Amino acid sequence: MNNDKSQALFKKAQQYIPGGVNSPVRACKSVGCDPLFVQKANGARVVDVDGHEYVDFVCSWGPMILGHTPPAVMDAIRETMVNGTSFGAPCALEIDLAELVVNALPSVEKVRFVSSGTEATMSAIRLARGYTKRNVVVKFDGCYHGHADSFLVKAGSGVITLGIPGSPGVPDDIVKNTISIPYNNVEVLEKTLRNESLDIACVIMEPVAGNMGVVQPSPEFMQAVRALTAELGIVLIFDEVITGFRLSLGGAQQYFGINPDLTCLGKIIGGGLPVGAYGGKKEIMDNIAPDGPVYQAGTLSGNPLAMAAGVATINELAKPGFYEGLEAKAAGFAAELTGLAERYLPGQTTLNRVGSMMTAFFASEPVVDFESAMKADTVRYGTHFRQMLSQGVWLAPSQFEAAFISAAQTDADLSFALEKTEWSFKKLAGK
Ligand SMILES: *Cc1c(COP(=O)(O)O)cnc(C)c1O
Repeated sequence: MNNDKSQALFKKAQQYIPGGVNSPVRACKSVGCDPLFVQKANGARVVDVDGHEYVDFVCSWGPMILGHTPPAVMDAIRETMVNGTSFGAPCALEIDLAELVVNALPSVEKVRFVSSGTEATMSAIRLARGYTKRNVVVKFDGCYHGHADSFLVKAGSGVITLGIPGSPGVPDDIVKNTISIPYNNVEVLEKTLRNESLDIACVIMEPVAGNMGVVQPSPEFMQAVRALTAELGIVLIFDEVITGFRLSLGGAQQYFGINPDLTCLGKIIGGGLPVGAYGGKKEIMDNIAPDGPVYQAGTLSGNPLAMAAGVATINELAKPGFYEGLEAKAAGFAAELTGLAERYLPGQTTLNRVGSMMTAFFASEPVVDFESAMKADTVRYGTHFRQMLSQGVWLAPSQFEAAFISAAQTDADLSFALEKTEWSFKKLAGK
């Protein structure tokens, strides 16, 4: 495959941008290749600068649930754009999106918009600390909540992919206020939360983990997290940056029927533009400036183009049958994938799926937490990734990420991907 143009751009990018990329996982280091530069994308397909076309399972790491350039969203952006791109003053579109969010998410009564998932999570823990007047944040090993200092303790996503345990530049004084415990372990959870000397302000979790690969919470674990935090006056934050508008219109909280106190959103909510949000109970949200003393602000927050893209996206998702259709498609695809794995690599893979997010781990045991995820064969994933890319299928460049099904993927796109998967699995099996 001729990647001359991508290679030339990567070389030039490295001269001006650290590692040549503006987010580390894009560098594709863990899968042993250089990044491809994208020319354009449409529907389920991405085209690189050398003219190769790929069926896309990355979906910009989650946001593109409708596929790329969905007409309704593009029209909304175009119509809004002609009136200006940023005002630094309120606009009506902010209320439109806020109303949609509040109506969609069972636990959210008020919502504040920011510009990224990272901003949403870091603001939510500040609010939880301000509200409870306590300091400690409890998170789970392998969950990723953006790159704010407090979260870079046993974090997922690129932090695992690059094998970084924490990060230089994050002071011990900050890290000492973060406790990271295993996902899906009720015993450790209970012991930690009941330890009164710990001064715990909040528990933040991905209600389905997506950043150590997809890991589903056990029902007992979910119940315990909610019951214990409620009993102990600890704020429960669901980081729904991936699962929000992905698992259902009401996110994971609606999907599982468990309401957190605060919710963080990102990715899908911006319809491909930079938006994050945090919201929850009025009683807590009213502590944010200007109503309350907890400070949080943003020059581009509530940006009109981003709000318009978010509104148009959610209106598409709210159409009857959207999530049922996506679930059926994802379930069918996962069943076929499992069949291929059993046929060619028996006992060597584990597929985790919740709705339209899934990870096929090259692991022989069930993957239920960070420790079991780490047993996956990343070298083998790298080979599979490169083989799939060479055949026109764009997977996440890391074993520890989700593959996303989008509304734009047709049966033909999925059959194509399965055919290529069969070819790649056969090669991995030495057949
Ligand atoms: C992507 C992600 C974030 C960070 O969002 P950014 O927009 O990249 O800052 C936070 N939490 C979760 C669960 C994510 O997947």
